[in-house]
Amino acid sequence: MPDVVIVGGGPVGLFLACELRLAGCEVIVLEREPQPHTAWKALPLGMRGLNPASVEAFYRRGMLSALGVDEEPRTSPRNVSHFAGMTLDPAKVRFTTLPSPALDAVMTSLEAVETVLSERAVELGVRIERGVVVDAVAQDDQYVEATAGGRTYRARWLVGCDGGRSAVRGLAGFEFVGTGPQLTGYTALATIADPEKLRPGFNLTPDGMYLRMPIGGHLGLMDFDGGAYDRSQPPTREHLQAVLRRISGTDVTLSDVQLVSTFTDRAMQATTYRRGRVLLAGDAAHIHSPLGGQGLNLGIGDAMNLGWKLAATVHGYAPGGLLDTYTTERHPVGARILDWSRAQVAVMRPGGSATALQGVVRDLLATADGTTYVFERVSGLCGRYDVGSEHPLAGRDAPDFRLEDGTSLGELLREGCGVLLDFRGGLEDVARGRPGRIRHVAGPARDDLGLDAVLIRPDGVVAWAGEPGEVERAAGRWFGAPVAAAVDAPASSGPWAASEPG
Ligand SMILES: Cc1cc2nc3c(=O)[nH]c(=O)nc-3n(C[C@H](O)[C@H](O)[C@H](O)COP(=O)(O)OP(=O)(O)OC[C@H]3O[C@@H](n4cnc5c(N)ncnc54)[C@H](O)[C@@H]3O)c2cc1C
Repeated sequence: MPDVVIVGGGPVGLFLACELRLAGCEVIVLEREPQPHTAWKALPLGMRGLNPASVEAFYRRGMLSALGVDEEPRTSPRNVSHFAGMTLDPAKVRFTTLPSPALDAVMTSLEAVETVLSERAVELGVRIERGVVVDAVAQDDQYVEATAGGRTYRARWLVGCDGGRSAVRGLAGFEFVGTGPQLTGYTALATIADPEKLRPGFNLTPDGMYLRMPIGGHLGLMDFDGGAYDRSQPPTREHLQAVLRRISGTDVTLSDVQLVSTFTDRAMQATTYRRGRVLLAGDAAHIHSPLGGQGLNLGIGDAMNLGWKLAATVHGYAPGGLLDTYTTERHPVGARILDWSRAQVAVMRPGGSATALQGVVRDLLATADGTTYVFERVSGLCGRYDVGSEHPLAGRDAPDFRLEDGTSLGELLREGCGVLLDFRGGLEDVARGRPGRIRHVAGPARDDLGLDAVLIRPDGVVAWAGEPGEVERAAGRWFGAPVAAAVDAPASSGPWAASEPG
């Protein structure tokens, strides 16, 4: 019997499967689609932007180069995204951190992300079953069962990563609340007979927004129709052309439409991410408009946060309440992203009020403070969880500390366990009592930011920093009580002696 059944083998389900397997759990992924690749996942329609936090997640699990991203450390971002179509100027971002390869947003495709993750999942020993459509979920206080076409899969835990129309969410009785649609969005691949009639890039017009991407006939449209369009059928060429003509104010002709789909700006979120033995992650837990490209990033953040906590629960060493911190930490992050996407829609609405608002936002983005604020929000690097410590670094994403031999924190996190960077030495007992949970690394760093030591969770969040007297309490809070038998095990010592995870 697997420890965890994951329903949905999209990017979030696959990322989570890798996390759990890395931590030694038996995992099975049930995926509806018989084939992994579709035209929707490939470029140009499958184009997705990974924010620096997601890039960092791939870096910390050793998958960045597989995504084609170089691992050269940098101190400032070179490209930073946009707000409601208004591009940010990276030169205006005031953001200081230790050098890291994960400061830039990266454009990739769903296909590339899923390929990297499924290859990694298979390499780690995750079982992926395709063509399996889960249609029933039942749980008691010991087990949970997913049923697909009469076949039942039983496990200790189940995670619904089955996307925005999640079956698991409804079947397990999660409440899903939020705001209704104001617009119908279209994303399409079309042959444009007279492309010179459309301006390239984002275009806000008195009737909506159209986006002409640089690649072929890739179009995006936002029609503020109150979400009235019937999305049960794909739109016809005639309909798409009529909407495009109205919004662009041109008589542009679409001679052919190869692919088209619709979306709305409904912004909804599950009120909790856990009900008993069932959890939600990714779009199954929250949906919003694709504006600002945050859905996938939010989902990868969920998977990084949940994986190690669920693994500790499976293995029986999780401190009380650890699993519930998944909701308490991730729900507010999701709620902020939903509001961020609502704000962008408000700024892009046709009409005098939104035009006035656009002017205000443009003025703010002309300043370093305004651009830095937006960068901090969209990068995903600047949030803070309450980890029970007042230290300015506690609860934040850890800077990429680099040891004197050049080894980086990102590399030390690849095994998926916590890391205790012990710059002055003497804290080896904290890790020795928790084999396989904390990796102890003693010795000086190239830049230790004036700290004695830092305890970092497997998801890269600082659990504790500063006074050595408090480290044991913090370790207990996040990594559970020490194992008595392990106290006699040999500890690492000496400059840059990194203990292997057990
Ligand atoms: C046009 C567009 C552009 C976007 N751009 C960006 C961007 O730039 N950056 C960004 O961060 N996000 C972006 N997003 C959002 C992003 O694509 C999603 O947030 C992300 O794909 C969610 O991943 P997921 O794994 O949670 O869900 P999904 O990708 O939806 O995967 C869910 C999986 O579950 C499977 N499944 C569903 N039901 C069942 C069932 N009953 N049984 C078994 N399997 C099931 C599905 O087949 C699917 O494989 C964009 C979205 C759109 C529409």
